[in-house]
Amino acid sequence: MKAIRWIPLLSLFSLFFIFACSSDFAKDVGLVSEPKIGILPFGNIDKGEIDSVQTAIYEMYDFEVVVLEQQELPQMAYTEIRYPRYRADSLVKWLTDHKPAEVDIVLGLTNQDISITKYKKGTKEIKDPEWMYKDFGIFGLGRVSGSACVVSSNRLGKGVSKEVFYTRLCRISCHEIGHVLGLHHCPEANCLMNDANESIRTIDKSTGELCEKCWNEVR
Ligand SMILES: [Zn+2]
Ligand SMILES: [Zn+2]
Repeated sequence: MKAIRWIPLLSLFSLFFIFACSSDFAKDVGLVSEPKIGILPFGNIDKGEIDSVQTAIYEMYDFEVVVLEQQELPQMAYTEIRYPRYRADSLVKWLTDHKPAEVDIVLGLTNQDISITKYKKGTKEIKDPEWMYKDFGIFGLGRVSGSACVVSSNRLGKGVSKEVFYTRLCRISCHEIGHVLGLHHCPEANCLMNDANESIRTIDKSTGELCEKCWNEVR
């Protein structure tokens, strides 16, 4: 007799469990909180660039995206190793340390060139040729499962239409946010998280969308 009394209770519990597992339901009742993203313009960034990055991140991830007060590029990131520019890893560190409490993730946006040191896979040895890779220009950098990323528009607009420029900027921004959300590079050729492999063509060829595997990881 006791077992019979438990059946309705158990069914109710399983029903709740099924609902709670549905991410939309969990969001609606506040069981999970969505990260709030802040775009931090470094210097005077074109409003069109800021707006398109804001829209792209919102449309892709469905997160709230706000624009933060602009800041000067921090001098601690400046380098003249090969050219006068800013170290992307130092910028990510600065952004992490200066992230306003009102946002969970900060994306720094600059029109200055940014660079990193590239190492041989799994080592601390600089990739060959060393003169090139000790300070190598990049499009963006995001720390996997961190709270900050940086995107540079400096290399994106040469010899292309405004439309191509904006598409590149938006894809790179969503790619770097993907890293911050915990995604590593993806072997799927068309996936947005595919490694750009030092070429803007990889970004142009991408579908601009995350593959199913990557989606399942960020959901
Ligand atoms: Zn990447
Ligand atoms: Zn993928």
